[in-house]
Amino acid sequence: MFDGYYTKDMQKRIIIKNKKAAAAQRFHPWVFSGAVKAIEGPVEDGDVVEVYQEDGSYLATGHYQDGSICVRLFSFLPVQAEQAFWNQKIGGALACRKALGLAGNPHTDCYRLVHGEGDGLPGLIIDIYGSTAVVQCHSIGMHRMLGPIAGALRENYGDALVAVYDKSSETLPATYASGVKNGYVFGESAPQTVQEHGHTFWVDWESGQKTGFFLDQRENRWLTGQYARDKKVLNAFCYTGGFSVYALKAGARQVDSVDVSRTAMAVTDRNVELNGAAPGTHQSFAEDTMAFLKAADADYDLMVIDPPAFAKSIKKRHNAVQGYKRLNALALSKLRAGGLLFTFSCSQVVGRQLFYDTIVAAALETRRQVRVLHHLSQPPDHPVNIYHPEGEYLKGLVLYVE
Ligand code: SAH
Repeated sequence: MFDGYYTKDMQKRIIIKNKKAAAAQRFHPWVFSGAVKAIEGPVEDGDVVEVYQEDGSYLATGHYQDGSICVRLFSFLPVQAEQAFWNQKIGGALACRKALGLAGNPHTDCYRLVHGEGDGLPGLIIDIYGSTAVVQCHSIGMHRMLGPIAGALRENYGDALVAVYDKSSETLPATYASGVKNGYVFGESAPQTVQEHGHTFWVDWESGQKTGFFLDQRENRWLTGQYARDKKVLNAFCYTGGFSVYALKAGARQVDSVDVSRTAMAVTDRNVELNGAAPGTHQSFAEDTMAFLKAADADYDLMVIDPPAFAKSIKKRHNAVQGYKRLNALALSKLRAGGLLFTFSCSQVVGRQLFYDTIVAAALETRRQVRVLHHLSQPPDHPVNIYHPEGEYLKGLVLYVE
């Protein structure tokens, strides 16, 4: 656990090569191992370290972890007091969500409170589901801060927070994660329903994917609802049926939901029911999307294609692009004339332009005429730190297909 070593005379120091200091001076939150000139003191994975220039001037403070990114910076001023620092960081993230009208909003009581680098806290994700906070740590250093982080959540939310659940076992490095079990670090709670734009969703943060719900599609789901009236809709890669519920509540004629996960499909059925869909308007398919599409009739009016990240690294990017192209060409071929395609990529390494070009290639393959109606992205509770453009990951297009 944390032992209170952020002080002016901190012993654990990383010295950066002169030529490499510019990144931290411009507030980029990552120190790459190639930038390190020397490590001073007994530095171990997860330690808080201070980063200095060769001439001894202070640059930043962060968490050390051996690897290509070896320090994740969370402060560009010396940090003096442990709990007060975390209170202030979590308070800053909450102030931003209040400015967005998310915190304390009865129509949308689930949102991302901390989005890693986007909120100046690399390695830390915190999602709020009603009165429960779900924490997902992606670095050892952040996991070692769980105590102060939970304290800061309680300090900022008071009685509005009843539980803090740690769900980091799948997101930490394997060697360290073997000793980590998911569980409540404060209070206790149970999976429950949340509200999103007045729609009801069952969220199981204990056994669901990621922290339980894909909060990053909130605004894009809402937009789908705007166009769904009287339409025959396909929601592919539906997870717990987010887009399906918006389409049904907006008056879609029929919605087909597809996901390869049976557990996800069971929750989709539950969510459709919770929102009072008219009988016979929804069908569930626990299937592979490509197989489903190949067998489908070409009569959809609106389609949502929201696959998982096809590429988790640059090495996989080429194959991912081929995958997006095949999937989107097939989807386009199953739309009726005048149909709408909502298509997404959440692969960070497939940039906005590359995704766009891939969709152009898919459209060309079908020889259909296509208009671009919307460029979509991640919502404002998944902000991008202006000094860390790598934080942009979700891209989407809405296409009108003749
Ligand atoms: N659109 C969803 C989030 C999608 S996450 C929402 O709004 O909540 C991606 C989903 O794709 C996951 O639920 C995963 O189970 C599913 N999936 C992965 N591979 C698949 C495949 N080959 N066919 C269908 N679904 C798949």
